[in-house]
Formats: sequence, structure tokens, C-alpha cells
Amino acid sequence: ERFRHDYLEIRDLRVVFDGFVAVDGVDLTVTRGDLRFLIGPNGAGKTTIVDAITGLAPATGSVQFGRVDLLGKPSHRIVRAGVGRTFQTASVFDELTVLQNLDIAAGAGRQPLTMLRRRRGIPPEVEAALETVGLTKVRDLPAGVLAHGQKQWLEIGMLLVQDARLLLLDEPVAGMSQAEREETGLLLQRIGEQRTVVVVEHDMEFLRAFAASVTVLHQGKVLSEGTVAQVQADPRVVEVYLGS
Ligand code: ADP
Repeated sequence: ERFRHDYLEIRDLRVVFDGFVAVDGVDLTVTRGDLRFLIGPNGAGKTTIVDAITGLAPATGSVQFGRVDLLGKPSHRIVRAGVGRTFQTASVFDELTVLQNLDIAAGAGRQPLTMLRRRRGIPPEVEAALETVGLTKVRDLPAGVLAHGQKQWLEIGMLLVQDARLLLLDEPVAGMSQAEREETGLLLQRIGEQRTVVVVEHDMEFLRAFAASVTVLHQGKVLSEGTVAQVQADPRVVEVYLGS
């Protein structure tokens, strides 16, 4: 089946900004079905790793997703390889409806010829994404009126219709209510069964409830890796968190 080879394999990733080493020889392997969280103190290099994967930071080493080496590829090529990301602030079109937002995202991942095809009704992939992210009932509302959590889910839905098979999510539960956090955790678990998901997150309570595995970064390096319980018991992690 088509998702079989979807694993992310990062080797010796380095990102240097004006002589400052932000990411310093990171190795990271994330397989499909592994809901992986990246944690670490501010400035540890988490966002820069995501930027490097998506072509937004100058990097060396290798970033393999499936059969494609992403490093040095232009953004559109990285999207076409099945990589999608969200940012801390949801970037949806407020004046357009939920459905229209999803439709545009679906178009972005399509070949021009397919886009020319006249469509009747809601495309099946859009219908499925609405269902998955739980926005079917609000599909005709302008995105601008959605609750904060719903906007984040819409953004995740947009990645699903783009057919992203590697989802990189930057602090998806920031600013969410407790109920929205729980919804989001379950949503990520569902998506993680089918796709490769990497989440940058600070919230330890959220991690304890939902993370399958955790990579702890510190000063641009991998400090520890394992289950939440394993990394929490790691003396190096305790030291970094107590010391900061
Ligand atoms: P985290 O996401 O773990 O908080 P970041 O990846 O945002 O950390 O940042 C890692 C380090 O790299 C920080 O010291 C940050 O100041 C630096 N950094 C990030 N982006 C840039 C940039 N574009 N230019 C210079 N330094 C940067």
C-alpha cells in the first residue's frame, strides 16, 4: 500500500545562521504510525528542524522522506513529495468558507489538468477531510467565525486534502481549551495511524496523554529519545529542565 515507505529519516542535520549553530548534527527517524513529539527548551532548535525539512532554513546533512531527499529541493517539490506543515498561527482565509478553504488546498496539491476538470458536488477527499477533522457541520461558515481550535483543525484538514503524508505541526494546542486539546489529541492519534506526524509541543500534560514517542532537543542536539516516561526519567533531561 502507498504509505508503506513513508518514513522520515534525518541524518547529521546541521543548520548554521551567521556562524551560530542552531541545529548541530541531528539524527531523527520517524516511521508511519509514530506520533512523534519534539520538545526542548526555547531555542533548542525544534522549529529550525521543521524549517530545514520544509526548505525554509539553510541545512546540510540528509532529510529523506520515502524515496525523496528533501534537502535543497524547492518548496513546491517538497509539498509534492507529500510534506505539509502548520505554523503557530493558523493561516486560513477568513472570508472564505471552511469548504472553500479545503477546496483551495485540494487544488494546490493537484496537477493543472485535474484542476480544469469540472466538478459536481464536494470532492471525496474534501468530504473525508471534513469528517476527519470534525468540521462537517460548519463547512459553509466563513473560516473567520470559527473558534480557535476549529481553525487549527481546518488547517490540519487542508494538509490532509493536499495529500500530505508527512505532517509537521507547530504547537497545535497552543491557546486551546481543555476540551479542544483532547479533541486535538484524538485527532492526531487518528491521523498518526495512517501518516507520519511530527509535533513541536511544550505542553507536558498533553504529551503524557497523547505522545507515542518523544525526542528531546537541547542546544541543537538530540538529548534523549523514547516514550514520555523514558525521557522524563532520563537524568540529562531532568537536569536541562530543572536548570532552565
Ligand atoms: P525552538 O523552536 O526550539 O525554540 P528555534 O529553532 O526557533 O528554537 O531556534 C534555535 C536557535 O536558532 C535560536 O537560538 C534562534 O535564535 C536561532 N535562530 C532561529 N532562526 C534564526 C534565523 N533565521 N537567524 C538567526 N538565528 C536564528
